[in-house]
Amino acid sequence: MVITQQHTGFIGLGANLGEPVTSIRSALDQIALIEGVELIRSSSLYDSVPMGPSEQPNYINAVCKIKATLSGLDLLHALQRIENEHGRIRQGEHWGPRTLDLDLLILGTQSYSTTELTLPHYGMRGREFVLVPLFELQPDLLMHDSQPIAKWVAECDVSQLRRIHPK
Ligand code: ADP
Ligand code: MG
Repeated sequence: MVITQQHTGFIGLGANLGEPVTSIRSALDQIALIEGVELIRSSSLYDSVPMGPSEQPNYINAVCKIKATLSGLDLLHALQRIENEHGRIRQGEHWGPRTLDLDLLILGTQSYSTTELTLPHYGMRGREFVLVPLFELQPDLLMHDSQPIAKWVAECDVSQLRRIHPK
């Protein structure tokens, strides 16, 4: 009998070009189709103000919970294929900017610290558009510094984050 270990994981989704809500929903459908991945549930969609340059549209963000038998690296590559499939807008003869960002936030206790993959994801702390949907999905989550996620959420500025769809 083959016993394959399943890891519980979380993926952060973001989009701010094209049809962001449609992109996020279709990305969730594609994630559910990755071999070795089971989509458990997804958060509400949130509207967030972009980090960095403000002369760009607001983002739509969500987080989904999965169970996966893949390694972090294999899952990252599968997510990058989905980004590529969604990330292109026709602008004349050229391909335009990316419209979908998929970040692997957590995958069981897998830990990577390479340029290609950092796990747990380096950018969760202080990012309300990641932590609030993650908290919605898993309010009892312990972060990698052993702090409850509620504490990380409490440190965020949530004043410009808006929940836009129940699902
Ligand atoms: P960002 O998500 O920071 O806005 P990108 O989506 O363009 O930027 O990702 C840049 C690089 O980050 C990718 O080439 C990918 O290999 C790397 N990366 C490192 N760790 C992760 C992770 N946990 N999830 C997704 N990408 C990651
Ligand atoms: Mg990314």
